[in-house]
Amino acid sequence: MSTRCPFLKEMAVRFCEVSEHRKLVPSSSISESDQRCSSDAYVDCKLAAERLAGSAPVLSSCPFLHSASVQYCSAASETRLIPASEGTSSRCNTSAHLYCDLFMQLSHGGASGTHPGACFAPSETELPAPAHLAYSGNHMWLDAGPDGGMHIGVDAFFARAFGRIEALRFVSGKGLRKPAVVLTVNSIDLPIVFPKKIDITAVNRSLESDPSPLVEDPYGAGWLFEHLPHGSGDVPAPATIFGLIEGEKAARWMSEEVQRMTEFLGDLAQDPQQVAVEGILAADGGIFCPAVATHVSCPDLITMFNLFFSPHDRWRS
Ligand code: SF4
Ligand code: SF4
Repeated sequence: MSTRCPFLKEMAVRFCEVSEHRKLVPSSSISESDQRCSSDAYVDCKLAAERLAGSAPVLSSCPFLHSASVQYCSAASETRLIPASEGTSSRCNTSAHLYCDLFMQLSHGGASGTHPGACFAPSETELPAPAHLAYSGNHMWLDAGPDGGMHIGVDAFFARAFGRIEALRFVSGKGLRKPAVVLTVNSIDLPIVFPKKIDITAVNRSLESDPSPLVEDPYGAGWLFEHLPHGSGDVPAPATIFGLIEGEKAARWMSEEVQRMTEFLGDLAQDPQQVAVEGILAADGGIFCPAVATHVSCPDLITMFNLFFSPHDRWRS
């Protein structure tokens, strides 16, 4: 099964091997000067003359003219050729293309329906837990592509509970480690840590200037960490997924978590001092109100964090 982006195309180009500025010219648009390179008129080229020093026999085209096949993004407004050095490990060539901004813009709601966030459809009765993802107990997801590529983000429960993030700072840089990020909510810094190590090759830096996609499109543009396949220190996906919640279990677990949050908020609402929590419970057994974490007191926010989003299993139980 091909995991490369459907917008990735190939074309033949030609280039001069001895020119300082290696300009790639599509074979289909050969200019007058290129015609010189591909005919015996190349002998009039100063560059060719310098190198051949008039000793070589005249050929039907310049010996320094080469051709190659390059890739380019057919969806971009300007053609950007993808160098061979990016090879098969570029985002465009792997399952990671699903998290390319341009790909998501074009496929979101489109005919392809392949945008991972397309399954983020918040409703008042259930929170989505896409079946192709694996979930950690602290409400983070892992998307392990068939080619070994991986992405990590937060789930719809997390997005619903927090609703507004004031700031986001990545703690983990590149390399094999547990992905970690610090979110600021109600002026409190909360460490969000995925419980498994992955070889991080990129983080979604755009979230540092605008964290809103984290909660508005948690399964798509709000992704946090990326591992492109073929990086050094690869961890096989099965080992990374082991112990995470998958498939039908995930949907069941998500419902149970909604119930657990409702009970937690119900306990808070019993406290006469907790005026702020009035109205945050769904009256008809639906989901707790959006951004509920921003409506509770600071101590209760920390308790909520420990019970639902802490990286430590024992604090959540
Ligand atoms: S004629 Fe040969 S050396 Fe001159 S620009 Fe063309 S390819 Fe390069
Ligand atoms: S830049 Fe994005 S849309 Fe274009 S080919 Fe690469 S992954 Fe696809």
